[in-house]
Amino acid sequence: MQGLPAGVRRFLMAACAGLLAACAAAPAPLAGAGPCGDVSGGPDVPWREVAPAVWVWLPAREAEVDERNGGHVAPTTAVIDGGEALVIDPGPSHRHGLRVRQSLRCRFGARVVGVVNTHAHAENVLGNSAFADAQARGEVRIAASGPTIGAMRRRCPDCLRSLVERAGADAMAGTRIVWPDTEVSAGSTLRVGSRTLQVLDVVLAHTEGDLLLWDAASGVLWAGGLVYGRRLPELAQGSLRGWLRALDRIEAWPVRHLIGATWSTAADGEGTPPALAATRQYLGSLHDGVWQAMNAGRLPQEAGLLPMASYAGWAGYRERQAFNVMRAWRELEPLWMDGGEAPPSGAESVAEDVGR
Ligand SMILES: [Zn+2]
Repeated sequence: MQGLPAGVRRFLMAACAGLLAACAAAPAPLAGAGPCGDVSGGPDVPWREVAPAVWVWLPAREAEVDERNGGHVAPTTAVIDGGEALVIDPGPSHRHGLRVRQSLRCRFGARVVGVVNTHAHAENVLGNSAFADAQARGEVRIAASGPTIGAMRRRCPDCLRSLVERAGADAMAGTRIVWPDTEVSAGSTLRVGSRTLQVLDVVLAHTEGDLLLWDAASGVLWAGGLVYGRRLPELAQGSLRGWLRALDRIEAWPVRHLIGATWSTAADGEGTPPALAATRQYLGSLHDGVWQAMNAGRLPQEAGLLPMASYAGWAGYRERQAFNVMRAWRELEPLWMDGGEAPPSGAESVAEDVGR
């Protein structure tokens, strides 16, 4: 196919990609493409089809970063059209990013033309490393919001060291920090093949600049770290109230599939994906629980200040709950001191959790 004119090649690629997208969730290798193993001889990426032309590589299970998962705790997605691919959150490491790149070329005949970093967390952005050569040749653009680029500049050196410690030097071998080259903001568009994705918003929520990226053709909304499954939301760099407002924004949008820290699909294509309600329930309970603790004259440094038993089975609860409480307290205390406003409604489980 290499010797064919670009237009013909593009058409054939588009036809191949279209045929493959029509197949079930286990794409076959392109004829003549050779084996689709990863760069180290392991199995190919276990892509799952979210919607036509949208494929996701999910973590094996909801968990914190450790040596077993090599830092793969957030989904990596590819939108494939016309022989081109856009990778959204390329993963935690050079090796992870290379597996994505190799698999897209081998299984789908797709060349990666763009990478998106939804927010500045190591497990989402360090996979940029695998695209550094193509970026240097001008073949791949790496896009992120301004606040995310700024946060990467501040945190990535420490985050890389931290991820090497937690995921292991082997999993992180060859990983280096590669900066985005394209700043996007609300209203920006990203093209892949004939598709156009739209940046709906950049919000201060889970981090300083979480991207909401929308693909109208598939009804998929990428929400970075704003929507979790059975893993405790991480509030370290964000805003609890901003996060709750962002969830309102998402809820008002006609989302069929939501890809954040998990993949969640609306039942029968109607209503909102269930992970949205679960994340809101936790954050609402955290908000209301901290508010009630302030009303009760409790102190933020009390050990076990706000146990939330409903979420004790979620991954990361033991590591993160106390920190989330401290973070929420710091944000809400000035409002409470001012006489405050009523906490948000809808946190039904807080009554049973507070005071345990
Ligand atoms: Zn995150």
